[in-house]
Amino acid sequence: MREPTPAPVTTAPATDRQYLLERIGEAAVVQVYADGFRDLPLRERILVWHLGQAAIAGRDIFYDQRYAHNLEMRDVVEAIVTHPSGVDRSTLDEIVRYTKLFWINTGPYNNLTSRKFVLACTPAAFAAAAHAAARDGARFPLQDGETLDALLARLQPMFFDLDVDPIVTSKTPRAGKDIVTASANNLYVGLTMKDLEGFEEKHPLNSRLVKRDGRLVEEVYRIGGRYSAQITAIVQHLEAAIPYATEPMARALRALATFYRTGEDADREAYDIAWVQDKASPVDTINGFVEVYLDARSIKGAWEALVFYVNQEKTSQIQTIASQAQWFEDHMPWDPKYRKEGVRGVTANAIDVVIEAGDSGPITPVGINLPNDQTIRERYGSKSVSLSNVNEAYDRSTLPEFRSEFSWTAEEAERSKRWNAFAGELTTNMHEVIGHGSGKVAERLNGNPQSALKEQFSAIEESRADLVALYFLPDRKLVEFGLVQEVDHEEIVRTEYESYTRNALVQLRRVREGTDIEEDHMRNRQMIVRWLMAHTTAIEVRRRDGKTFYVMTDPSAFREGVGRLLAEVQRIKGEGDYDAALALFHTYGVHFDAALRDEVVARVDHLQLPSYTGFVMPKLEALTDEAGEIVDVTIAYPLDLTTQMLEYSAATRHLRA
Ligand SMILES: [Zn+2]
Repeated sequence: MREPTPAPVTTAPATDRQYLLERIGEAAVVQVYADGFRDLPLRERILVWHLGQAAIAGRDIFYDQRYAHNLEMRDVVEAIVTHPSGVDRSTLDEIVRYTKLFWINTGPYNNLTSRKFVLACTPAAFAAAAHAAARDGARFPLQDGETLDALLARLQPMFFDLDVDPIVTSKTPRAGKDIVTASANNLYVGLTMKDLEGFEEKHPLNSRLVKRDGRLVEEVYRIGGRYSAQITAIVQHLEAAIPYATEPMARALRALATFYRTGEDADREAYDIAWVQDKASPVDTINGFVEVYLDARSIKGAWEALVFYVNQEKTSQIQTIASQAQWFEDHMPWDPKYRKEGVRGVTANAIDVVIEAGDSGPITPVGINLPNDQTIRERYGSKSVSLSNVNEAYDRSTLPEFRSEFSWTAEEAERSKRWNAFAGELTTNMHEVIGHGSGKVAERLNGNPQSALKEQFSAIEESRADLVALYFLPDRKLVEFGLVQEVDHEEIVRTEYESYTRNALVQLRRVREGTDIEEDHMRNRQMIVRWLMAHTTAIEVRRRDGKTFYVMTDPSAFREGVGRLLAEVQRIKGEGDYDAALALFHTYGVHFDAALRDEVVARVDHLQLPSYTGFVMPKLEALTDEAGEIVDVTIAYPLDLTTQMLEYSAATRHLRA
């Protein structure tokens, strides 16, 4: 599981170094810094280097998973962007705008709404630009015997037609479609949900399912299987990293290489166990088919890679929560039969990322808790990380008007300014460590509530983790554990409850089309606030000067409601109660009032607030001696999205047949 970045509110940098690099429509581009890298010993810097190469090597896998036409489309726009000299100026501006959004979102689908975006020039102007680039020496991804015009005609619907493959992941399909056929991603080909009845997947996470000659075939992601070239390169880099790793980490990397070779689920389990048992290594990586948000069924893993080191300074809070995990488990407000006994091995760190690719870059989560395999979590525990340098970049770039616009009083805005970063980090840490890390499910679910809850699973699990954090935030035990000062506790609770409440309103700006929320975290947050509105007296809807406000007025009513809802959400997960999950989200979490959204959009547009952020990663450089041995690894900050994206694309072009 992972937490997406909060609603970014980015303007001028608060310090002398540059965080905000540019704005492209509703997206912001921000540089992430990894200050501690330079202080790592050489051995760890070399380790990070090899793992970073492994991360870049797999980037194109996620492009292909997200949309079958993604890589060809990327080749076309990159060919034009890199050969601009003969291209009409206004056409070029539009192609550059589109290409940057394409890079940030890994293809032509908005990461928050799941909806397609298109080129705003004419197909004729686009063709003229492509021909000008070709005259300037650009190479296009032509199939055998294909002309440039034929290529452009073939891809025209993908670049220009909003009605062709309109949604990448659709959990609320229109009539006549199901969640698989309505989703444009490349995880399933030629089949419907009905075809899946009675079909048992041997490679649930790491395969594409294709219906061929009336039969379902699992195309397994492994060496010798689908994505063989990229996976072979990943494994080479992982194996180059092993000599520089600690022994527990080396074990995990060897297990990962084995899994990439065989693609067998038993080897994935062995890797998950080895990874979660590596609790103390100062450098770590996540590399593989991990999160299931791209799949409307929540089964198939999207490829991602992160390379990071522990931020020792910031790790103490999260480790305190982890060390008290059993106390929290014993005080969960749910039926004792869902309480985990002998909570083990929740490992939690604050980390700084050095490279993120695939499903975690350029758009990055702020918190991650893995592995997702419920059986392994219950037996071996899980590891949580909070991405400190990503959080820092957000924090350094928050616009004050954002707080005041949606706060009912000046005191509320002031509280937010004072405490929001602290309260947000604390609740994110609680969400990851004692939220996702907690609870158990009924035996008959075999540790696999996903199968029962299907497309509702992720939103239920995110709700559960949020509710755990919100429930325990006011607990006096937090003072005893040293997580908050007694004198500040009440203000911190109020700040977080107010901010959580406001968010249900403010987040509507991120769904500019339609009246359905698709993204799971947004669904869960909408559901919780609207459920509290319907079942408690904690929140009032007020209006002033034609503007709507969600006002949290009663923290104890808020907490009492959170406890009640949490008991029910845990029951839904614990029993795999699909109908209850569906009803909960359809009543409170999915649909919203278009007029209210329009009002919110007008307010944020007036303030020029972005809806999401793409990050530019640091750039590593390895210096070698005459024998080719790495003698140093340096870090630099490109401060430019285009440069980095073109470098990454060039680095893996040879892996594409
Ligand atoms: Zn989560």
